[in-house]
Formats: sequence, structure tokens, C-alpha cells
Amino acid sequence: MPDPDRRLLLNLPPYPATGYAKLADRIAALIGTKNDVVFVQAEAVVALEAAATSLGAKGMTALNIVTSPYGELFGFWLRRAGADVIDLRAEPGLPVTVAAVAEALAGADRIDLVALVHAESASGILNPLPQIAKLAREKGALFLVDAVASAGGYELDVDALGIDIAIIGPQKALGGPASISAVSISARAWQAIDRPDAPRRSVLSLADIRHNWLDAGRGVLAGMPSALEFQALEAALDRVEAEGIAGTIARHLRAQRAARAGLVAVGARLWVEEERDASRLVTTILLPDGLDARKLAEDDAAVAAGLSAGIGCVASKLLRLDHTGRRASREAVLEGVRAVGRILDKAGVGTDAASADAAVAAAYAGEFGTGSGDTN
Ligand SMILES: *Cc1c(COP(=O)(O)O)cnc(C)c1O
Repeated sequence: MPDPDRRLLLNLPPYPATGYAKLADRIAALIGTKNDVVFVQAEAVVALEAAATSLGAKGMTALNIVTSPYGELFGFWLRRAGADVIDLRAEPGLPVTVAAVAEALAGADRIDLVALVHAESASGILNPLPQIAKLAREKGALFLVDAVASAGGYELDVDALGIDIAIIGPQKALGGPASISAVSISARAWQAIDRPDAPRRSVLSLADIRHNWLDAGRGVLAGMPSALEFQALEAALDRVEAEGIAGTIARHLRAQRAARAGLVAVGARLWVEEERDASRLVTTILLPDGLDARKLAEDDAAVAAGLSAGIGCVASKLLRLDHTGRRASREAVLEGVRAVGRILDKAGVGTDAASADAAVAAAYAGEFGTGSGDTN
């Protein structure tokens, strides 16, 4: 007998065609842009592939900043589209430095595009977005940002920062569905995308979306819009707007601070030493020698507590605690910190479970008042 709640998912009416533009406008407001916001009806990594495929062209030179497998993929797609790509790789698992970006830009005659991931869920780092935005502008380059793991966790003022293309996924801090993505595109970026030799008649073609949806008056989306995803996106935006985007951001900051304090209290070693370099969506710890994150994260209890192994070349050494979206709450952070405490305890690394509770409670009570901030 199917779960009756789940059967409701089968009976959704089509999402009204008049609703898409409103959703796009609400996302534009959340990220501070007057640029066009378009939807890619797929998970965010497909929106990234669409952006790279649509922008990349022969004769274009891109500076692609790599701080995770997402950046590696982005460079691959740009090259496949014909662009010359300079990959700037940061130290494994760490943020890129502003000096390294400045040097790479200074060393190139012309850079048409700079691509950056803002916050990394793979390793729990934050890249210095405002400084890199400024450097990209000074070089006259288009600036593309993968903001999937930062939208909702950080203020993202797309127009003030001069971000030409921002990729947004609702499934992280915004607590929404995973199979619909949004892309904001500036007029300058459209010039690079909507050119005579641009890829067309493809799900990866942003030019198609411009012609089929924007130019047609934002009435009907091409193809079959997913009612499930759009209903879920609307519900997620309702919830974020009810909390206020500033509240959502503050809740993620609280969760980050509590996670960091709690993890230190149980004797874990934070991978990112400075809070300003660390993601508000996940906190990573460096495991003691002999412990393998991938093995630890297989455990059902660990998964339930929001733990997973890092992604990429430092994966086996890093254990991530997810405090994104619904998990950005005191209860979820405490559960995750306690789980790490148990793991370290079992491995014979001295821990003190009670201190985890005290540290998390202090982080929530001290600076931020006593509310758990969980509105989910
Ligand atoms: C989650 C995430 C994505 C999108 O990945 P999906 O598998 O499509 O959800 C892209 N970039 C970053 C930095 C992410 O954290």
C-alpha cells in the first residue's frame, strides 16, 4: 500500500504557466539582481554544464578557478566548447588566494571569462568572492559564479558585485528541490551567449531559453515543466521569504559557529582554521591518522546525523558535517557534533560528549539569543 502522503505527489495539477515568471522574479530579489533569471529544468550541475557549453567558444580565453571537482568539470566543459582555459588550482581542499588570482590575470594578455565557485560543499571552504569579482571587472572579463552552495547562506548581491552569471540551486541553504536550477544572466553575458554560432536546439543551450521563454514574454516554458519541482520551489521560496533571507543567512551563520565550537569541544580538528575561509553550509574536520572518512560515513547513524566524506582529492581525510537548509538548526548541529564525538571516542581520541552540548548551547545562547532559529 503506497504511503498516502506520497500519493499526493502524483495528483498535482500542472504548474500554472503564469507562475514561472513570478518565481524567477522572487529568485532575482533574493540574489539582488535586475538581470534576467532563467530556469534550467535539471539539477544545478546541469545548469553549470549549460552555462559552460553556452559561453565557451573558439577564441575565448577563460580563467577557471578550481577548488573542487565542480571547477574541474567546468573547465572540461569550457574546453569541450572550444575555449582556451587556464585552470588555476588552489591547494587541495583550500580556498584560492586573491594573490594567486591577481597573478594569473596579470600573466594573461586577455581574459574573457573568470569562473569561480563561491562556497564549496566538497571541502567546506569559502572563496574570496568580492575581491575576485573586483579583479575580474578590472580585467574586463565576464564573471561567472557557482553560487549553488552559498545562496541562502551568504548575502549574494549579484548586481553590486558585478556577477554576470550566477548559478543557483534551491536544494542547499534555500531548502528546496534538487532538480530545478536558476541562472541569472547579465546583458553583457547574453552578448557572449547569444551569438550566431551558439549551440541551439539543445537542453544545454541558454540561447534557446532566451528565445523560447524570455523573448516569448515569459509565458510558457519549452518542453514539459515539472509541476513537482515548481510546486516545491514555490514552497521553498515561501518558507525563505517568511523567515526573511537575512534570517536564513543568520541561521546558517549560527549553525556554522555552533558546529565549529562543538567540534572543537569534542576534540576534532577543524580543516578550515579561520571562520572567514569556511563555508556556512558544511563544516569539515581533518580526521586523525588511521581513520577513513569514507568508511565512517557509510554508517547509517553517521549519515542520519549529517556526516559524509569530503569530495575530491582530500576526501578520505575529511569528514563533513552538513548544516545546510533544514539542518541549520541547533538540534541538527548538536546531533552531528555528538556523532563526531562518538566516532572520535571509539577511535580512542579523547572526547568529552558533555562539552559538545555545552559548546553548542553557548554558541546559540551567547551571541545570538536563545532561539534555535529553526523555522522548518
Ligand atoms: C551542490 C553543488 C552543485 C550542484 O550539484 P548537484 O549535484 O547538481 O546538486 C554545484 N556546485 C556546488 C559548489 C555545489 O555545492
